Amino acid sequence: MNFRLSESEERLRAEVCRFLTEELGTTHTSEPRPMPPGYMPARDFERKLGERGWLALSWPPEYGGGGRPVAEQFIAEEEVALHGGPASDAIARVIVAPILMARGSEEQKRRYLPPLARGEITFCLGYTEPEAGSDLASLQTRAVADGDDYVISGRKVFTSGADESDYCWLAARTDPDARKHAGLSVLIVPMRSPGVEVGPLLNLLDEEWFNEVTFDDVRVPRSELVGGENRGWEVLTSALGMERITIYRAFLHMRMLWSLVREAKRDRGGRRPLRQAQGRPWDDTRVRQRLAALAADFEVARLLLWRAIGLHEKGEEFPAQAAMVKLFNTELAQRLYTTGVEMMGPYAAIMAGRRALWEGAVPHGYVSAVQETIGAGSSEVQREIIALRGLGLPRG
Ligand SMILES: Cc1cc2nc3c(=O)[nH]c(=O)nc-3n(C[C@H](O)[C@H](O)[C@H](O)COP(=O)(O)OP(=O)(O)OC[C@H]3O[C@@H](n4cnc5c(N)ncnc54)[C@H](O)[C@@H]3O)c2cc1C
Repeated sequence: MNFRLSESEERLRAEVCRFLTEELGTTHTSEPRPMPPGYMPARDFERKLGERGWLALSWPPEYGGGGRPVAEQFIAEEEVALHGGPASDAIARVIVAPILMARGSEEQKRRYLPPLARGEITFCLGYTEPEAGSDLASLQTRAVADGDDYVISGRKVFTSGADESDYCWLAARTDPDARKHAGLSVLIVPMRSPGVEVGPLLNLLDEEWFNEVTFDDVRVPRSELVGGENRGWEVLTSALGMERITIYRAFLHMRMLWSLVREAKRDRGGRRPLRQAQGRPWDDTRVRQRLAALAADFEVARLLLWRAIGLHEKGEEFPAQAAMVKLFNTELAQRLYTTGVEMMGPYAAIMAGRRALWEGAVPHGYVSAVQETIGAGSSEVQREIIALRGLGLPRG
């Protein structure tokens, strides 16, 4: 088994790495900073990646892509995460685009893929409703066929980045009489359509990039239906698989691990691993044990991800592997920031200002990591998927 990158993959990695170091002024081991809120604060950055062809390396050339292997796409993504690149609009590129390529109409591919490859348009995901989260198939937003259009009415919640998005990738009920999984469809809805209203919902960090979105008799042409009427569940399960292997990347947090390791080395003699933890004695053995375990976990995270990418590349469905990646990566992030908080002691409570280490990246990450185990399906739901689809256990 060969885990090494090929020569051309190494060349690509080095090229992307060089650009990112110039553009962002960071390396794989620079000090961490809190991630900017939301998924879409980085349109200019995205466009620069798009100009270089790095947003769509593996897409077919006729849709604006580079025609390269899927692995190269993920190498570029990994570099952006390792350099702490602004949270990119992964929703559009890594969830919507591959599903459109596999299940979209020719017209949809030509309309949406080239601007996505250039980083010009953004999407939000309209799945969750007040009464439909883990049990997504019970959603009630309706899309009723009327002439050449669908008329959409309903309410979505926790719609990340809806306030900045151009389109919504919407899950709606098209057949209220069918079994709940069988009556769903996915539609692309322009967010500027009459009848779409977006309002903020605050998250744990008091940020407003979560939203609630209401659809009040919103008309979209039938040509915006993706994958066929009442075929939405298949589209959604594929899209959720892509979300689980792409948004929740452990690499986003690697610089935090290396920075904690550096701090632990810096002042071992004084038994004060972090500068700010003045007067807080620390058991060096415990720090070493925790950091070593985290380093092993990051290796596992990487291998789990590459296994899922391998299955995606072969065109196979990979629900259990995607669930494993999401479960492991998000719980790893929680273990990492818990270690950081414990190393900092009371100073971990300082999120901003002169005494905030790394601009408050540790406490910020600690709070933020709570929500990671919920978005795109909670850890309990991921374990259920692994039990059912991976281990073949009967439904509980
Ligand atoms: C950071 C973040 C970003 C998000 N972004 C989006 C977005 O862009 N678009 C969107 O549509 N939604 C988004 N969501 C919503 C997210 O998908 C839901 O919060 C999630 O699916 C859980 O649904 P819920 O909040 O309704 O919780 P519930 O489904 O009510 O679950 C409550 C608790 O019950 C447990 N539970 C539920 N069912 C089971 C079961 N069968 N077995 C065991 N335990 C179970 C859950 O694990 C959880 O602990 C986001 C959420 C977060 C935190």
